Amino acid sequence: MSSPSKPVDMSAYWLPFTPNRYFHQNPKVMQSAKGAYYYDDHGRKLFDGLSGLWCSPLGHADPRIGAAISKQYETMDYCPAFQMASEATFSLASRIAKMAPKGLDKVFFTNSGSEAVDTALKIAIGYHRVMGNASRVRMIGRERAYHGVGMGGISVGGMVANRKMFTSLMIPGVDHLPHTLNLSQMAFSKGQPIWGAHLADELEKIVALHDANTIAAVILEPVQGSTGVIVPPEGYLQKIREICTKHGILLIFDEVITGFGRLGANFGADRFGVTPDMITFAKGITNGVIPMGGVLVRGDIYDSIIGNGGQEQAIEFFHGYTYSGHPIPTAAAHAVLDIFESDDVVNRAKALEPVLENGLHALKGKSGILDIRNFGLSGAIDLEPVPGKLGLRALKVLEACIERGALVRVAGDCIAVGPPFISKPEEVEFLCSVLGDAVDAAMKVK
Ligand code: PMP
Repeated sequence: MSSPSKPVDMSAYWLPFTPNRYFHQNPKVMQSAKGAYYYDDHGRKLFDGLSGLWCSPLGHADPRIGAAISKQYETMDYCPAFQMASEATFSLASRIAKMAPKGLDKVFFTNSGSEAVDTALKIAIGYHRVMGNASRVRMIGRERAYHGVGMGGISVGGMVANRKMFTSLMIPGVDHLPHTLNLSQMAFSKGQPIWGAHLADELEKIVALHDANTIAAVILEPVQGSTGVIVPPEGYLQKIREICTKHGILLIFDEVITGFGRLGANFGADRFGVTPDMITFAKGITNGVIPMGGVLVRGDIYDSIIGNGGQEQAIEFFHGYTYSGHPIPTAAAHAVLDIFESDDVVNRAKALEPVLENGLHALKGKSGILDIRNFGLSGAIDLEPVPGKLGLRALKVLEACIERGALVRVAGDCIAVGPPFISKPEEVEFLCSVLGDAVDAAMKVK
């Protein structure tokens, strides 16, 4: 392997969600990004197989986004987020609401997906309280869910590693539905598995155990992204929706990954034909160029909270961030949505879905691969773990992919991919073939 162009002092930086000691022995340093490619400090050109961290559907350095940011900086670099807002922030909220499923017509801005999740949980509790149901405070998440790293998010989340250090601090009163991945029933399914809708009935059991009147909300990623593209069985989300409606429980879709086109529709809610009461979003809204997140909320939830504010001057919802609706990410988001419209971006993602599906499933039969999943422009493969060395083989696959010119995402023994929507079909095919060769190479490492 070539050496890096210049040594980097890595001693002070604590890398998030990274095995830091392993990293220092196997550093990965990126130097630039353009279109669907990163360039690293070894001079390698790497196809961006995960669109950054699922956040760069338009690839990198689109000049239209940069120009919008510069212009906004010249015009107004910041606007206080409380008691006022920039004109463009109002219009961005309207624009996002127009893209969302009918009825979700209010937007609360945050800076990240984690904040969006914690905001949504607070809105759910606030709503029930103003509706006279103050006992509805319990939350229901799902095993293997990722909802960010706020205390609310890790509480409803289902990734053991993210929770176990903080157990006693997590919000009380949270239950978890089972995840829906069952390899004996659905390994190598293309798209949605047929088996498994009945797993939604577990929700009825939790409701029966606690009484519906204690439960505020169910939160789910329509497709579980960070833990390896776990696709909901056919009919599963519909059943969850029915049970929530029956018991007056709010349904929150965490669409931080699935929102803004990843599933070949504006939101996963559209693709699955299931409308939740709130949608959290982040990532793609600014193409990952600058942080922004938010919550789409059913209009009457907003009306109920606002309407119960009490005195004329009272603040109805004591929550917000200094950078909620910040003008610069707002400008970036407008530019991104302009590009979505002018370049028919969501349909491009949709057109690439079969290319990714075929490319990934062509790897079936390779030694070491336990499962292959795909939905929208996202997919994952599960590797046979090396006993006692969780995730090591997947890290080897990542390294072998980099040597061959592509970046993928590793989570435990799972490798996830989600290429930019601007990818050419042959680039998606290249990604899949690199992944296959990298698995072969990693299987040889003992
Ligand atoms: N929810 C989901 C579904 C996510 O995938 C993520 C990030 N991967 C988050 C929340 C957290 O977003 P952030 O890292 O922006 O806080």
